[in-house]
Amino acid sequence: MLESHGLNGLAAECHEMARSKGFWNTPNGNNIGEKLMMVVGECSEAHDEYRSGHAIGLIEYEHMGAEPHTYRRTRNRLEPLGRPGENPDPEDSLVMQPGKPVGFPTELADVIIRTLDLASGLGIDIEEAIRIKMDYNATRPHRHGGKLV
Ligand SMILES: [Mg+2]
Repeated sequence: MLESHGLNGLAAECHEMARSKGFWNTPNGNNIGEKLMMVVGECSEAHDEYRSGHAIGLIEYEHMGAEPHTYRRTRNRLEPLGRPGENPDPEDSLVMQPGKPVGFPTELADVIIRTLDLASGLGIDIEEAIRIKMDYNATRPHRHGGKLV
């Protein structure tokens, strides 16, 4: 469940999450080149998923040695509550997190999450940038003037 409204809101949420996980407090500080390479890394992971031959739209869960637990969803994080069926408060918004989600869709998501994090962290209005670029792309010729791919 996303609480954001619009792409800039989602970008702010991605950035808040990345900050809370320490990704803007690394030895290299806020190195833009490093952050761009993290986007590339996620593209590479998506390519590896594609190469694996798994169904392209499939999301699976990698169990990390622990049993699935129930979590309370608060803004931007899941707080563990206990094992399945142990629900201490029926008012809580509960989700099951059965493990790490893996697959092509989640790697594409990572590409977007890292990109939006960077845009928000740099104060970029990514909605406006996308609209400006899409408007320009609409004026370009077929395959942008003869590109092969
Ligand atoms: Mg990834």
